[in-house]
Amino acid sequence: MNTLLKIENVSKSFSASEGLFFKTNKKVKALDEVSFDIKKGEILGIVGESGCGKSTLGRVILRLLDADSGKVYFDGNDILSLSKIKMREIRRDMQIVFQDPFASLNPRMRVGELIGEPLKMHGMKDHREINKRVEEIIRLVGLDKYHLKKYPHEFSGGQRQRICIARALILKPKLVICDEAVSALDVSIQSQIINLLNDLKDELGLTYMFISHDLSVVKHISDRVGVMYLGKIVEITSTENIFNEPRHPYTQALISAIPIPDPDIKKERIILKGDMPNPLDIPKGCRFHMRCIHAKEICKKIEPELKINKKDHFTACHLVDKF
Ligand code: SF4
Repeated sequence: MNTLLKIENVSKSFSASEGLFFKTNKKVKALDEVSFDIKKGEILGIVGESGCGKSTLGRVILRLLDADSGKVYFDGNDILSLSKIKMREIRRDMQIVFQDPFASLNPRMRVGELIGEPLKMHGMKDHREINKRVEEIIRLVGLDKYHLKKYPHEFSGGQRQRICIARALILKPKLVICDEAVSALDVSIQSQIINLLNDLKDELGLTYMFISHDLSVVKHISDRVGVMYLGKIVEITSTENIFNEPRHPYTQALISAIPIPDPDIKKERIILKGDMPNPLDIPKGCRFHMRCIHAKEICKKIEPELKINKKDHFTACHLVDKF
């Protein structure tokens, strides 16, 4: 498979103010030298707790936020160095679906206009062609032609997310970034949307980056999974490896916390020590060491690199083969 997206050492910081009255010049490092790639036709899941940098990552890839350093290659283009005009062209091929479908849709526009709007924004003027494309895509996402005349508030949460997906896909993108795209939905609706995304992937030849805090959601859609902790990828490998053979202690703790819907199966949950450290004060050495049950002296001093330690299995841990 060819590579569609390649991220090399991407970092992104934000200025922060600490407390209500006290200002600081400290920076929150939301992304710290993040590297990975996504092959054409692949679904890469990105998981981690809230505040780990996963949503920032999606926005930096689309250049909705500017990276401080690093490279992002999309379909062979070094997109961080592109002009705004060229980036606008490329953005046709990179779309995003956000968590809150209601906030993403203008309540004063009818669904037909909402879905057709990206075509107009990218220069299509032929109304008959626009209407034809809108009618095609509304059917593909499992809604009907008569829905095009309605307003967003007339739909359920799941239907609204289908409309957002239709709006993202109308430009026939190559990459779709789903940023917590099913998190606001009920569990039964979540699985409908995941099935829809999977069907559309095959039908339209899409590639997804699927960002979620929920490992069980990512499990059902991803080919590979990257686990983020405090702005870094700490483990990345196939979905099978992540769930059957997690190697990073943080991933192991996340997996152990997934409930099993079978009362006969007993699973020992790994309880992490303390809370996620303040991102303004990232610990020296391994940034996970204060919560890690395996931490040794080296972990407090030296930051582990993300290295391959089994076939296609990358982990950032000094002691990965020792526990
Ligand atoms: Fe734990 Fe040390 Fe590995 Fe970090 S490097 S995850 S502290 S064992």
